[in-house]
Amino acid sequence: MPWKLRCLAYLLFAVFIAFFPAQGQVRQTPNGAHTRPRVIVLGVNGAEWDILRPLLVRGEMPNLARVIERGVSGKMRTISAPNCPKIYSIFETSTPPEENGITGFIVHGTTANTGMLRSEPLWSLLSNSRVTVGMANVPATFPVKPVNGYMISGMLTRGKNCEDGLLCSPKLSEVQGGDAVYPPTMVPELEAKVGDFLIDCARMPSAKDLLGHEAAVVYEWLARVSATREQQRKLFDYLLTDHPTDFTFLVQSCEDRVGHWLYPIQPYNVGYDRKLNTIQVNAFPDQYRALDKVLGTILKHVNENTTLLIISDHGIKPLREKEPHEAHRDHAGTTPIIAKHDFEDGDDVPGVFVAMGPSIKKGVRIMGLPMSVFDIAPTILYIYGITPPEQMKGRILTEIFGSSDETASGTLVR
Ligand SMILES: [Zn+2]
Repeated sequence: MPWKLRCLAYLLFAVFIAFFPAQGQVRQTPNGAHTRPRVIVLGVNGAEWDILRPLLVRGEMPNLARVIERGVSGKMRTISAPNCPKIYSIFETSTPPEENGITGFIVHGTTANTGMLRSEPLWSLLSNSRVTVGMANVPATFPVKPVNGYMISGMLTRGKNCEDGLLCSPKLSEVQGGDAVYPPTMVPELEAKVGDFLIDCARMPSAKDLLGHEAAVVYEWLARVSATREQQRKLFDYLLTDHPTDFTFLVQSCEDRVGHWLYPIQPYNVGYDRKLNTIQVNAFPDQYRALDKVLGTILKHVNENTTLLIISDHGIKPLREKEPHEAHRDHAGTTPIIAKHDFEDGDDVPGVFVAMGPSIKKGVRIMGLPMSVFDIAPTILYIYGITPPEQMKGRILTEIFGSSDETASGTLVR
């Protein structure tokens, strides 16, 4: 083709893409479905296989066991020194923190927020392709942005007594400095149907609060965590019932915070404090038992056409001996911690990946770390038949799709 004609062809193609972006990107979905695929993502902050596996073996997480049995599961590679805002922003953009703008809890002196995002996130890409989107309690989604559906912010929401938005838990009515709900007209409805719920888990008590009142503070704090989780469960149930969307992203954040200071450690572990670490040794595993009940509620909304992903941004492990003591502080710097996730080698704290759905293999465990936090957005776009934009660094997890007897490299059929 002469170069001028070729240029004209490119120009026409560019015009076509500019005017019909959705049609230009959509191709056949992996399961060839005529209806739009339905995807529910349950994000867990810091789900740790070391704690999950014994619970699964003992039959104490029946819902998660069911999903693992009927789907694909494995570890998920995270990045160096992972934390929640960094990884959730990677889940949504498939770009590294220094590219997408969310480099940590605090960015240039300000708590991470959606105004800082420099890469187009999944919710926007899906909305622009006419996929309906519902999001609740996803970290670093404050202030909420308009989507083709609804968005309710999560961790890092600002509010009364939480002006910096750093790991505190304002109620819906206490939110300040931006909108926590899109569309705003949904606020009175949520207040009436779900109640004035807590947006995130409570900040950990400080060393000063604990001193001399260890047991009382632990039990009181854990009671607040349980109340938050129950409110979230009710919220998720309401949203999935009354506002079903093609794509739904729901997140629970209490596990990680409990793990940081109540991980079931032994006297030989770094940071062991007999006064504190003998009060409630089940506090952390109990979080996963409770998470399994939330999953049970979500599973009521999962039918044979739904793809369900359960993902975590990282795991969490007890501290090691050789680290400097000043590193042993929580995100806000006031609570002594006994477990953490921001290890320099992210492979020390891989996240969780579990998928189940009409086009997902069954009973397959992926060995090693071929799946990464960068792969979530491209894989979700693929399910909707949308080509991942070039800036995305991850890949489509093609090995999870297909029938169970097809083995891909790196997979093992049980
Ligand atoms: Zn954490």
